[in-house]
Amino acid sequence: MTGVCADCGCLVERGVRVSTCDDQGCCCSALATRDVGRMAAQITAAFEARDIVSFGALLADDARWGDDDTPTKCRSRRDVVVTFERLLAEGVGGDVVETKIGPAGVLCRLRIRWPDPADPLRRDEVLHLYRVRDGQIVEIEPYDDRSAAEAALASV
Ligand SMILES: [Zn+2]
Ligand SMILES: [Zn+2]
Repeated sequence: MTGVCADCGCLVERGVRVSTCDDQGCCCSALATRDVGRMAAQITAAFEARDIVSFGALLADDARWGDDDTPTKCRSRRDVVVTFERLLAEGVGGDVVETKIGPAGVLCRLRIRWPDPADPLRRDEVLHLYRVRDGQIVEIEPYDDRSAAEAALASV
Protein backbone atom coordinates (compact mmCIF):
# COMPACT_ATOMS: atom_id res chain seq x y z
CA MET A 1 0.00 0.00 0.00
CA THR A 2 1.47 3.31 -1.06
CA GLY A 3 -0.10 6.63 -0.18
CA VAL A 4 0.56 10.26 0.48
CA CYS A 5 0.15 11.28 4.09
CA ALA A 6 -2.83 13.63 4.22
CA ASP A 7 -1.30 15.69 7.02
CA CYS A 8 2.22 16.40 5.80
CA GLY A 9 2.74 15.12 2.27
CA CYS A 10 5.24 12.32 2.85
CA LEU A 11 4.92 9.40 0.47
CA VAL A 12 4.61 6.28 2.61
CA GLU A 13 4.92 2.73 1.39
CA ARG A 14 4.09 -0.07 3.84
CA GLY A 15 5.14 2.01 6.82
CA VAL A 16 8.36 3.28 5.20
CA ARG A 17 8.79 6.81 3.89
CA VAL A 18 10.04 6.69 0.33
CA SER A 19 9.78 10.44 -0.22
CA THR A 20 9.87 13.01 2.54
CA CYS A 21 7.93 16.26 2.71
CA ASP A 22 9.47 19.63 3.54
CA ASP A 23 6.86 20.25 6.21
CA GLN A 24 8.39 21.59 9.46
CA GLY A 25 5.64 19.83 11.38
CA CYS A 26 6.09 16.53 9.54
CA CYS A 27 4.09 13.90 11.36
CA CYS A 28 5.87 10.97 9.71
CA SER A 29 9.41 11.75 10.82
CA ALA A 30 9.45 8.77 13.21
CA LEU A 31 8.90 6.33 10.36
CA ALA A 32 11.78 4.51 8.76
CA THR A 33 12.80 6.28 5.61
CA ARG A 34 14.31 5.04 2.41
CA ASP A 35 15.06 8.49 1.11
CA VAL A 36 18.77 7.99 0.49
CA GLY A 37 19.12 11.42 -1.14
CA ARG A 38 18.13 13.00 2.13
CA MET A 39 20.44 10.67 4.04
CA ALA A 40 23.34 11.76 1.83
CA ALA A 41 22.62 15.38 2.78
CA GLN A 42 22.38 14.45 6.47
CA ILE A 43 25.70 12.58 6.37
CA THR A 44 27.39 15.56 4.69
CA ALA A 45 25.94 18.00 7.23
CA ALA A 46 27.00 15.81 10.17
CA PHE A 47 30.60 15.68 8.93
CA GLU A 48 30.61 19.42 8.26
CA ALA A 49 29.41 20.19 11.78
CA ARG A 50 31.57 17.43 13.39
CA ASP A 51 28.23 16.33 14.83
CA ILE A 52 28.69 12.75 15.97
CA VAL A 53 25.27 12.66 17.62
CA SER A 54 23.51 13.42 14.33
CA PHE A 55 25.69 10.94 12.51
CA GLY A 56 24.96 8.28 15.14
CA ALA A 57 21.23 8.85 14.69
CA LEU A 58 21.57 7.66 11.09
CA LEU A 59 23.10 4.34 12.15
CA ALA A 60 21.38 1.04 12.85
CA ASP A 61 21.83 -0.35 16.39
CA ASP A 62 24.04 -3.12 15.01
CA ALA A 63 25.92 -1.01 12.44
CA ARG A 64 29.17 -2.60 11.26
CA TRP A 65 32.51 -1.07 10.28
CA GLY A 66 35.67 -3.03 9.53
CA ASP A 67 36.39 -6.66 8.75
CA ASP A 68 36.23 -9.34 11.42
CA ASP A 69 40.04 -9.50 11.61
CA THR A 70 40.42 -5.74 12.14
CA PRO A 71 41.30 -4.90 15.76
CA THR A 72 39.31 -1.66 15.53
CA LYS A 73 36.20 -3.27 14.05
CA CYS A 74 32.81 -1.85 15.03
CA ARG A 75 29.74 -3.98 15.56
CA SER A 76 27.26 -1.50 16.98
CA ARG A 77 26.18 2.14 16.71
CA ARG A 78 28.05 2.77 19.93
CA ASP A 79 31.29 1.27 18.55
CA VAL A 80 31.06 3.51 15.48
CA VAL A 81 30.31 6.65 17.50
CA VAL A 82 33.19 5.91 19.91
CA THR A 83 35.56 5.37 16.97
CA PHE A 84 34.57 8.67 15.34
CA GLU A 85 34.92 10.43 18.70
CA ARG A 86 38.40 9.00 19.11
CA LEU A 87 39.43 10.12 15.61
CA LEU A 88 38.13 13.64 16.24
CA ALA A 89 39.90 13.75 19.60
CA GLU A 90 43.13 12.77 17.83
CA GLY A 91 42.60 15.70 15.48
CA VAL A 92 41.67 13.68 12.43
CA GLY A 93 39.00 15.47 10.42
CA GLY A 94 37.02 14.52 7.37
CA ASP A 95 34.99 16.45 4.85
CA VAL A 96 32.54 14.94 2.43
CA VAL A 97 33.60 16.28 -0.97
CA GLU A 98 31.29 14.15 -3.10
CA THR A 99 28.27 11.93 -2.59
CA LYS A 100 26.62 9.51 -4.94
CA ILE A 101 23.47 7.56 -4.21
CA GLY A 102 22.60 4.11 -5.52
CA PRO A 103 20.66 0.95 -4.72
CA ALA A 104 23.07 0.01 -1.90
CA GLY A 105 23.02 3.40 -0.18
CA VAL A 106 25.31 6.43 -0.19
CA LEU A 107 28.87 6.56 -1.46
CA CYS A 108 30.91 9.39 0.06
CA ARG A 109 34.31 10.62 -1.00
CA LEU A 110 35.96 11.97 2.12
CA ARG A 111 38.91 14.30 2.25
CA ILE A 112 40.84 13.53 5.41
CA ARG A 113 42.82 16.05 7.42
CA TRP A 114 45.59 14.50 9.50
CA PRO A 115 47.08 16.13 12.60
CA ASP A 116 50.46 14.63 11.73
CA PRO A 117 51.35 14.98 8.05
CA ALA A 118 54.06 12.32 8.49
CA ASP A 119 51.58 9.70 9.70
CA PRO A 120 52.39 6.49 7.82
CA LEU A 121 48.69 5.57 7.67
CA ARG A 122 47.93 8.91 6.10
CA ARG A 123 45.76 8.93 3.02
CA ASP A 124 44.30 12.14 1.72
CA GLU A 125 41.07 10.67 0.51
CA VAL A 126 38.96 7.66 1.30
CA LEU A 127 35.76 6.29 -0.17
CA HIS A 128 33.07 5.16 2.26
CA LEU A 129 30.01 3.28 1.15
CA TYR A 130 27.29 3.78 3.75
CA ARG A 131 25.10 0.76 3.16
CA VAL A 132 21.47 1.65 3.90
CA ARG A 133 18.71 -0.74 4.90
CA ASP A 134 15.26 0.36 6.08
CA GLY A 135 16.44 3.94 6.28
CA GLN A 136 19.46 3.28 8.48
CA ILE A 137 23.16 2.84 7.84
CA VAL A 138 23.87 -0.82 8.54
CA GLU A 139 27.48 -0.92 7.40
CA ILE A 140 30.38 1.40 6.60
CA GLU A 141 32.48 -0.09 3.81
CA PRO A 142 35.79 1.64 3.02
CA TYR A 143 37.19 1.44 -0.51
CA ASP A 144 40.46 2.58 -2.03
CA ASP A 145 39.35 1.88 -5.54
CA ARG A 146 36.64 3.95 -7.12
CA SER A 147 35.41 1.35 -9.60
CA ALA A 148 35.06 -1.27 -6.84
CA ALA A 149 33.17 1.26 -4.71
CA GLU A 150 30.80 2.14 -7.54
CA ALA A 151 30.17 -1.53 -8.32
CA ALA A 152 29.25 -2.09 -4.66
CA LEU A 153 26.95 0.95 -4.72
CA ALA A 154 25.12 -0.38 -7.76
CA SER A 155 24.33 -3.78 -6.27
CA VAL A 156 22.31 -4.68 -3.19
ZN1 LIG B 1 6.17 14.48 6.30
ZN1 LIG C 1 2.73 12.67 7.84
